[in-house]
Amino acid sequence: MEIPFLDLKTQHRALKAEILALWSEILDSAGFIGGKYVEDFERGFAEACGASHCLAVNSGTDALRFILLALGLEAGDEVITVPNTFIATTEAISQAGGKVVFVDVDPATCNIDPRKLEAAVSPRTRGIIPVHLYGNPADMEAVQAIAERFGLWVVEDACQAHLAEYKGRRAGTIGRAAAFSFYPGKNLGACGEAGAVTTADPAIAAKVRLLRDHGQAQKYYHDLEGYNGRCDALQAAALSVKLSRLPGWCQRRREHASLYLDLLKDVPGITLPATTPGGLPVYHLFVIQVENRDNVMRRLQEKGIATALHYPVPLHLQKAYAHMNLPPGSFPVAEGCARRLLSLPIYPELTEKQIRYVCTTLKEVLKNDCAP
Ligand SMILES: *Cc1c(COP(=O)(O)O)cnc(C)c1O
Repeated sequence: MEIPFLDLKTQHRALKAEILALWSEILDSAGFIGGKYVEDFERGFAEACGASHCLAVNSGTDALRFILLALGLEAGDEVITVPNTFIATTEAISQAGGKVVFVDVDPATCNIDPRKLEAAVSPRTRGIIPVHLYGNPADMEAVQAIAERFGLWVVEDACQAHLAEYKGRRAGTIGRAAAFSFYPGKNLGACGEAGAVTTADPAIAAKVRLLRDHGQAQKYYHDLEGYNGRCDALQAAALSVKLSRLPGWCQRRREHASLYLDLLKDVPGITLPATTPGGLPVYHLFVIQVENRDNVMRRLQEKGIATALHYPVPLHLQKAYAHMNLPPGSFPVAEGCARRLLSLPIYPELTEKQIRYVCTTLKEVLKNDCAP
């Protein structure tokens, strides 16, 4: 059996006629930038999240950067986040003029460890960006308690967490603002690049609206220097079609995760992903931890099962951050996760038979080839 890590082709076969019908209208109207399709998607996504404002932008990275600029980040301001995220989180901080400060993660969830936050706060700290990693919400109550104590803002990196919930609230409505990515492989993916900002703060919404469009509220009248960071109509239309399917897809992902959790429970040598108390994850990724990970990965590949690593090298050990002088051992929990983590295939189109094959094969591999 061949099991790809991700299968977007099947999803697109089912939606092709619907998406092409909208794209045909857009081609005929030549309204590629802004307009009805973008506004419709923004309204739909805000409603789906329960957010007051949604601003569609060019990418999740732009969403993060625009939020930080809208919050008035200044040179040298410190922003706390985790080392085991996609580099976009920290690129946005640095590119908005801030200084990245890492804290280690919780060993059970690999999400930000609120117990380590206080020690990372300095007089220059302005805010915290918890990442809802793999679609599992961060421990927001504990993060926000620290933020309130020190007068910091909290911005959610919800790029992997469309429709995830935390204590009855959807991702994107918990912090001051949130960034979403619609990169094709995300749970809600465009047919190209797109992202969004959600917030309840009208001032942030107004500023992001300017920033994404060269600082203009009226064409060629610029209130400030902004960016070319808009979401185009073709992406917005495809996203609206997919948004109508998203609740069903989340349900499928949760069912798949339950089956994985059930079939792999009590298997010696496997640490299963934990859910944050009060969280309802959407399983963008299903990430287990095993010893001899590279060997397990190779053996699974030989049996036709594609897996992936999210992420193989924590950010503080990347060449891009060599100037931070954070040697191995600086964030031991994140580093341990990076050594052991393995993302198994999970997507709505996956079948129960495929999941059973992955689990049976994984158990065989652990027993025969990779005994620690
Ligand atoms: C995907 C992702 C981003 C960046 O999103 P893009 O749309 O690719 O710019 C940021 N943070 C996390 C955690 C992500 O997974």
